[in-house]
Amino acid sequence: MATETPGQETQETLSNLLSETRRFAPPADLAAAANVTAEAYEEAAEDRLGFWERAADRLTWARRWDTTLEWEPPFAKWFVGGRLNVAYNCVDRHVEEGRGGKVAFYWEGEPEDDSRTITYADLAKEVAKAANALEELGVRKGDRVAVYMPMIPELPIALLACARIGAIHSVVFGGFSATALKSRIHDADAKIVITADGGFRRGAPSALKPTVDEAVAESPGVEHVLVVRRTGQDVPFGDKDVWWHDLVDRQADTHEPVPHDAEDPLYILYTSGTTGKPKGILHTTGGYLTQVAWTHHAVFDLKPETDIYWCTADIGWVTGHSYIVYGPLANGATSVIYEGTPDTPHRGRFWEIVQKYKVTILYTAPTAIRTFMKWGDDIPAKFDMSSLRVLGSVGEPINPEAYVWYREHIGAGRCPVVDTWWQTETGGIMISPLPGVTAGKPGAAMRPLPGVVADVVDDQGNSVQNGGGGFLVVREPWPSMLRTIWGDDKRYVDTYWSRFDGMYFPGDGAKRDEDGDLWLLGRVDDVMLVSGHNISTTEVESALVSHPKVAEAAVVGATDPVTGQAIVAFVILRGGADESGDIAGELRAHVAKTLGPIAKPRQIMVVPELPKTRSGKIMRRLLRDVAENRSLGDVTTLTDSSVMNLIAEKLPSAK
Ligand code: ATP
Ligand code: MG
Repeated sequence: MATETPGQETQETLSNLLSETRRFAPPADLAAAANVTAEAYEEAAEDRLGFWERAADRLTWARRWDTTLEWEPPFAKWFVGGRLNVAYNCVDRHVEEGRGGKVAFYWEGEPEDDSRTITYADLAKEVAKAANALEELGVRKGDRVAVYMPMIPELPIALLACARIGAIHSVVFGGFSATALKSRIHDADAKIVITADGGFRRGAPSALKPTVDEAVAESPGVEHVLVVRRTGQDVPFGDKDVWWHDLVDRQADTHEPVPHDAEDPLYILYTSGTTGKPKGILHTTGGYLTQVAWTHHAVFDLKPETDIYWCTADIGWVTGHSYIVYGPLANGATSVIYEGTPDTPHRGRFWEIVQKYKVTILYTAPTAIRTFMKWGDDIPAKFDMSSLRVLGSVGEPINPEAYVWYREHIGAGRCPVVDTWWQTETGGIMISPLPGVTAGKPGAAMRPLPGVVADVVDDQGNSVQNGGGGFLVVREPWPSMLRTIWGDDKRYVDTYWSRFDGMYFPGDGAKRDEDGDLWLLGRVDDVMLVSGHNISTTEVESALVSHPKVAEAAVVGATDPVTGQAIVAFVILRGGADESGDIAGELRAHVAKTLGPIAKPRQIMVVPELPKTRSGKIMRRLLRDVAENRSLGDVTTLTDSSVMNLIAEKLPSAK
């Protein structure tokens, strides 16, 4: 066993190495007024479908459903027979109920003097105009619309316009290449592309339209390209191109919202491709909106009258779909949307935005938190962030040290941190603390939410109890689950439902501690097999990050003649850390002390940056290539491919 590579067959259990004893009880005032209390777990355990029915009743239905769940494994239909319009639920109903003057979005452009305030009444008009415009272009229910845009208000408006008429949007992140865009346009057979001349990125306009032109030149199925003028750059304009301001601005600002079937498709979103060929994840209407709205209400304890909510994700990722657009708007929230990067024009920009809008709920990613740690505590300390009351994390396991830093330096030791586990495929949050209920543990996603049945199993599919590690699975269908992979039911079955009989397998490792709480341990593809022990990259990385000199760490298993695989670590030091002396030796000893000698890295390399996907996740595959002295695999989905050169330059000094 020791000489095998860590395929799924060999992973009986994950060795459980990390022990973390810090606990943070919910603040008393938050707990006393929380939207959701501990009873929700009991209610859902007693009657799971009844629980989701009550969640669905928070929406406005044109026709109530006949059957809550039709389950022909692994194909689910939720709220069968129900009809609703997602855009009506997200916009019009708030206006009809007298909340038209309430702000839906505070939009903050990257250039500092560039901002817009959009009320629900404004949004209703803009969405109606865009829906009329799409219809004028010949877009009909069921047609696919590719969206390739910067983070500007027209982006959520475009999505809501599609949802309103029943067109299926497929957002492609605005940083992706023409090849990536083209393959997604082809896979979904999109009829229209919505884009912009460009967006602002790190202080300069960055063009998008030329990339679209390149993709569309080889996409005969695309009939029109609708272009928002954002930067005013000179861009080529061809036969298929229509300016947003020419077409949309002259439309009527009302539009009749026709109800759609609860199972009509809402959108396709391609997963980011951290691991392989992107999959077109298909989400539908009623169940999706039910779960994203309920989880947003519960996990962030959203009080729509008083909260200012900010999710820093890009709308090009599922986090932006579910927790910038659909969940918050369905709940009538006031949100901040920011166009740019955290360091433009300075490294305190996020905190300046929190201060400016008095943000109360912040939802961001561990990669951002570790970057802020690296930049230093003094930067957030300069801003007034006393408005904050709940902090969220998503995208990767959050290292305990990053969690504690986030709580202390952003949340002033007062705000609960909710570590939310979910994926593009799950559509909405699945495992997370509830801020008014859960005593949080740094690094743990804690419990499946009420109505979600998740478990940790060994390679035979048996539940693992009491501190054991294994595979995360979901045992019962949930409302916002993916319905299939677009055009490929077989791949849907093979990818998610074949590893364990009758269970959904997300591809992540997890452990359940003695209290029954869940800890996510990273992708099972990344698990290392050292001397017969399955060791999670997350635990070793967290041990490294717990050293005061380390800001970020990535570890991989490299082939080793003695141990099968050996742990190789890449670390970024914190701002101001003393680099002299035997830092590698110091860190190896620290890991051995924290986790045990088995987890001691064979090699530690101090590097200036780590390779990350455009959604900010560490790309361990490339680091494995470096650790095993191979030529690098595909680097096209990296944010910045020069990072690999910086790492290569450091190699001769590696020990
Ligand atoms: P691809 O599937 O194309 O490789 P991806 O998995 O990065 O891309 P997403 O759907 O955005 O695309 O990410 C979901 C994954 O991110 C989860 O399966 C998990 O590995 C990780 N993840 C997200 N949130 C958390 C969290 N709170 N804790 C631990 N891991 C998380
Ligand atoms: Mg994935």
